[in-house]
Amino acid sequence: MIIGIDDTDSRDGMCTTYLCAVLLDELEEYGTITSLPLLMRLNPTIPYKTRGNASVAINIDTDQPQKVMDHAISRIESLAEMASETTNPGVVFVPDKDHERTRHALGEFFNRAVTDVLSIDGAKELARDLDIPHKSFKNGRGLIGALAACGAMLNCDWDHTYEYIAYREQNVWGTLRSVDKTSIHKADMETYPATWDTVDCANDLIVCVPHSPDPVLFGIRGKSVEDVTHAAGFIESEPIERSVVYRTNQGTDMHLIHATGISNIKEMHSYIIEGTVSRAPETIQGGHVILSMRDSKGDEIDCAAYEPTKNFRALVRKLIEGDEIVVYGSVGGNTLNIEKIQIRSLAAKSETQNPVCPSCKKRMKSAGVGQGYRCKKCKTKADSAVSIEVERDLEIGLYEVPPSARRHLAKPLVRMGVQDFELFPSR
Ligand SMILES: [Zn+2]
Repeated sequence: MIIGIDDTDSRDGMCTTYLCAVLLDELEEYGTITSLPLLMRLNPTIPYKTRGNASVAINIDTDQPQKVMDHAISRIESLAEMASETTNPGVVFVPDKDHERTRHALGEFFNRAVTDVLSIDGAKELARDLDIPHKSFKNGRGLIGALAACGAMLNCDWDHTYEYIAYREQNVWGTLRSVDKTSIHKADMETYPATWDTVDCANDLIVCVPHSPDPVLFGIRGKSVEDVTHAAGFIESEPIERSVVYRTNQGTDMHLIHATGISNIKEMHSYIIEGTVSRAPETIQGGHVILSMRDSKGDEIDCAAYEPTKNFRALVRKLIEGDEIVVYGSVGGNTLNIEKIQIRSLAAKSETQNPVCPSCKKRMKSAGVGQGYRCKKCKTKADSAVSIEVERDLEIGLYEVPPSARRHLAKPLVRMGVQDFELFPSR
């Protein structure tokens, strides 16, 4: 049986993965957990998501399915943040039977849950149609992620990474976390690039320890179970209640759709779009950097490097009109929020300067508005300023926001091989 769970947490506490961790231990009484649990990130632009828009799936081999279902439901009832307005848990139980239609339908639903915007009614209808036992609480929004996570478990051929999550003992939830900073840096140094997003070196931030009041103590992301477990072993901290390694679609860019043109893009979807800078970057109030890009058909969109992207903004500010770029990110409020940017070619940048005197080789001075330029000493004259090409302080290549600003689903460059740089054929 596959159990899918979603939306049990709130901004004030809990975490759907903690509920999953508890169930993994407690369900041992009724069966055998047959594969790693899944931690699935869904469409990151959905506004009613609680925090990271994560759902989980557990695969259990059991001959007591009713007991498994009853226990899971009772744990959701006792642990979910039911009082929070935005917490709307859902749980589904996909029975163990070779059912090609279920596998296919849930696989498709999973893909849409990552890239598209789905309705609660659609999820309820699908569960009924496929005859999947399910239970929803309040408005039942969690059914969407619960079904999607099961779809991911039934169709395991997607790109994936791993995360080791350590959980705090209950009596300290909501208090300041005690994790030794030096040991976190050591974990990073010893295991990067097989692990990533543990620290943000450029901005001197610890990324793997959350600040929210939920039960997570730290999470280590990496490319294999061994790598994340090895890295976690370096970390010195307060006592850990339990830990789990998840298989996850984090760091895969699964949310991105190759856009054929700016006219086709939709709000609350995420894209890879090719174009040319049509309006140079501008820093607006709040420190956000905004530029416009135009595609080959002449359509335009604003692209933003928001304040939390910190040092990434300095890179974006160096772009000028005419630079050819490929932008990766989500669309909201008619603006594309940049997660990664590929700079494909640089436009020539020129500066106007006063002309040089042919006699003394010094720069001439302006002779007054509309009067051209002159060298007082040599009595030489010139009509206009000269334009000279200046070197660009920018290299072509692929760039990303720092780990502290990275979306769960965004694929870090450390995972990207050379083939990913050639997303579009060269012109
Ligand atoms: Zn002169």
